[in-house]
Amino acid sequence: MSWNKLKSSAQRNVILMKGKLIIISAPSGSGKSTIINYLMQQGLNLAFSISATSRPPRGTEQNGVEYIFLSPEEFQQRIAEEQFLEYEEVYPGRFYGTLKDQVEQQLEAGYNVVFDVDVKGGCRIKEYYGERALSLFIQPPSIEALRSRLNGRGTDSAEVIEDRIARAEYELSFAPQFDVVVINDQLEDAQKEAHKVLQEFLLR
Ligand code: ADP
Ligand code: 5GP
Repeated sequence: MSWNKLKSSAQRNVILMKGKLIIISAPSGSGKSTIINYLMQQGLNLAFSISATSRPPRGTEQNGVEYIFLSPEEFQQRIAEEQFLEYEEVYPGRFYGTLKDQVEQQLEAGYNVVFDVDVKGGCRIKEYYGERALSLFIQPPSIEALRSRLNGRGTDSAEVIEDRIARAEYELSFAPQFDVVVINDQLEDAQKEAHKVLQEFLLR
């Protein structure tokens, strides 16, 4: 059902009033950000959970938009202060974490919060929020497609790309632990499928 058809119905209120959680995980280069950007534009009252990271900004990334960029020392300080709902050293020396305050503020404001997190972080958030959360795994058609997408994106050095590929096989083994797996082969199909799954979950 389209959003417009829902507009005048009580169903729209259900979407607007209940803050739910949508967890999206995938190996880097699978098309997760592309699909999330698409979903954010579908009028589903979504807010993006801005994680903290100890990696430096890349490309046009800005502090407080894609991530809260912290120094490695600042990140460790926040761990000590138990400010994270979950955190992971996703790549050697590169920490990423979800700040408790950030999530609670967005949920209290009535948004459905979207998480772009690694597979372990995704499982942890799902475990914590249970039925209130939907976990979605975006799967690339193959490792070769992943390599070619990372090269094509042109944002990472050859070394970083190899780190990401090396981790991908391990991450793929987590797919069965997710509520839904969407294979991103043809982008438009994957976007439509993810959109449908989200609408169904938000209306539940
Ligand atoms: P992630 O957030 O998972 O790291 P991105 O969304 O940045 O991945 O996508 C990686 C690259 O692959 C981007 O350049 C994007 O435009 C491209 N891409 C995404 N989905 C597809 C697809 N289905 N087919 C081909 N290229 C894609
Ligand atoms: P990137 O460096 O490409 O932005 O992200 C690398 C990986 O870190 C991605 O798999 C992304 O999902 C993950 N990530 C981003 N934020 C978080 C977070 O808050 N927690 C966890 N566990 N992983 C995260």
